[in-house]
Parts: sequence; C-alpha cells; structure tokens
Amino acid sequence: MVERGPKEILAIADLRVEYPTENGTVRAVRGVDLQVKEGEILGLVGESGCGKSATLLATMRLVPFPGKITSGQIILDGQNILELDEGEVRKVRGKTVSMILQDPMSALNPAHKIGTQIKEALSVHGLWNRTEDGQRQLVKLLERVGIPSPETVLELYPHQLSGGMQQRVMIAIALACRPKLILADEPTTALDVTIQAQILDLLANINKDNGTAIILVTHNLAVASQFCHRIAVMYAGQIIEEGPTDEVLSNPLHPYTQGLLNCLPRFQRRERLTSIPGQVPDLTGSIPGCAFYPRCSRRARTCRLKNQRLMSVDGRRKVRCERWRINEVFEERVLEEELDMVVDHDRYQDQ
Ligand code: ADP
Repeated sequence: MVERGPKEILAIADLRVEYPTENGTVRAVRGVDLQVKEGEILGLVGESGCGKSATLLATMRLVPFPGKITSGQIILDGQNILELDEGEVRKVRGKTVSMILQDPMSALNPAHKIGTQIKEALSVHGLWNRTEDGQRQLVKLLERVGIPSPETVLELYPHQLSGGMQQRVMIAIALACRPKLILADEPTTALDVTIQAQILDLLANINKDNGTAIILVTHNLAVASQFCHRIAVMYAGQIIEEGPTDEVLSNPLHPYTQGLLNCLPRFQRRERLTSIPGQVPDLTGSIPGCAFYPRCSRRARTCRLKNQRLMSVDGRRKVRCERWRINEVFEERVLEEELDMVVDHDRYQDQ
C-alpha cells in the first residue's frame, strides 16, 4: 500500500489582494501559492510591507475594506473559503483557523473581562456551557498557556495584565475551539526579548502536543530557523522561495533569500554585514518582470520583463528564479556593484 503523508490543511493558489488608496491601487499580494500540511509550522518571512499580513487576513477573510481579494483560491480543510457566505465564514473562524496578532490589545476588548472574552469565543461555535465543567474548561485553557492563578485572571480586564500575559490570553482564545491551523502574525514583535522566547516556545509546544498547524509570520529569519519546519520567503507580494528550513537557510537559492541571510550576523558568510542595496518596489505600479530585478546581483536582461513562476527544484523546494543554477560565488562582485545597482535602480524606478 502506498503510504500517504500528512494532508494539506491549507492550500492557497494564485491569491491576489488589493488595497485601493488615494495614490493608486496597492497590489499587496500578487499571486501567492502556498501550502501548509497538518501539524506543520510554516514560517512566512520577508521585509515589512511584502504582503505577509495581507495573505493571513485573506485566509481569515478579514481583509479590511476597501481592500479586497481580487482572485485566487483558499482551500482550508477541504473547502474554498472564498466561496462561503459571511455566516459560513464565521463558523470557520476560530473553529478551523484562528489568528494571533502582533498587538494583543488591538484584538482584546478592553471593556470585557478575560473570562467573558474566552466564553464568547467558545459560544460562537456552541462550545460554551454554563456549568462547573465550563468553568473548569476556562481554567484549563489558561493553565495550558502558562497563566498563573487562572481563576483570578479570568476576572481581570486586559489592561491589568502585562503584554506577555495578554498575548498568552490571545493564544488561549485562539486555541479555545481547537482549530487545526493558527495564523500567528509577528506574535512576539511587541514583547521583551525574554518573553518573546517564552511565547514562541509555547506555540511550539502547542504544535507538538495538539498537532495544530501554524503559520508564523516573522521578519526575523533567526526566529524562523528555530521554530519552523518549512520557510516561505515573500518579496513584493509573491513567494520567491520555499522549502525545508535547514535547506533554505544552508543553501538559499533565490538571490533575495541570499541577501536576507547576509544581513544576519548569525548566517553571514563573509566578514562584513551587508544590507541589500536598493529599495523594495512600489506596489502601486505595475511590475512587468521579476520584482527583485533592480536589486539583484544575478539578474539577466530577460529578468526585467519575464516574471518567473514559482518552480519546483527537487520536489521539496521551490524558487521563483531561473538563475538559481548559477553556482559561482558572486559575493565579491556584489560589493563592487552595489553602488552601480542603486544608481540603476533609481533609473529603473523613473521609467
Ligand atoms: P507585511 O505584513 O509583509 O508587512 P502587509 O500585508 O501589511 O505587509 O502590506 C502589504 C502592502 O499593502 C504594503 O505596501 C502596505 O502598505 C499595503 N497595505 C496594507 N494594509 C493596507 C491598507 N489597509 N490600506 C492600504 N494599503 C495597505
């Protein structure tokens, strides 16, 4: 019998999200393809503004108006959530997929006690009962996320808790209905370094103990390297590289991923830390070819007009670049070319 691996809990295909603004339409997500398997932690990494949050918000069907999903498919636990009506989507949120935001205070209701807010999350899905068992369930949830004196905390308001404790409450709410997938959008960025590690450990334990799949959005590759089974790198609204964490970090294929790694002290392979020369492209304009073209050390003339698809490399890895096969080390040249590229980038933007 053929053994089957874990099934996909999420499969996103050709997702596009746009935000109309006074200065034009921001194409925040420009054809994202992404899969997450049951029980997997996927790190979605990339610089600020590359469309990570928009991808997660689309997966919750929570893109704020006037932003909209203009095309694509989001198959969540077997159903395309883009085809559901609002009532059906509400049944999915919290129950199949839930989200943890960077700032817990923006998600918690300051006027309601912690206990009330967890009960609400359970009630939406008919999972709250007013019995002693129900109360025990709340206490257990808070214990599960490492909150001391849970009976007391249930009676407190969010502002009476520290940032770390508020984030634990958010995780408890996200976990309340035992979703199969949690979307964690920079869940530790607003917290102190020591608390950050505790929250990430907690998420890792939830993944291990409950088998909950997690998408961890982070701009920090070091965090992704520690906690994620797979990494997907985003640039200018597209996934540009994806694969098992150790393989992507030890042998990045896309020049952008290589650039990101060179910016990190832990991963740098040369004496000098660098930043990637040039700027991220303006997402209100049209980008005919590879969005990384103006900043790329390996670009060919054709890259400017031809946007590659995300192609499979060996069945495990994908990259949106034809030139990953070029193995020569370009790094020495990069330093010399940095200045030229910045100048060239300005010229490119002007056209
Ligand atoms: P990330 O999560 O990677 O930082 P976002 O998904 O938040 O990126 O943003 C992607 C792009 O969409 C950015 O250019 C951002 O400025 C733009 N954007 C995000 N939210 C809005 C909004 N509500 N209105 C207009 N533009 C937005």
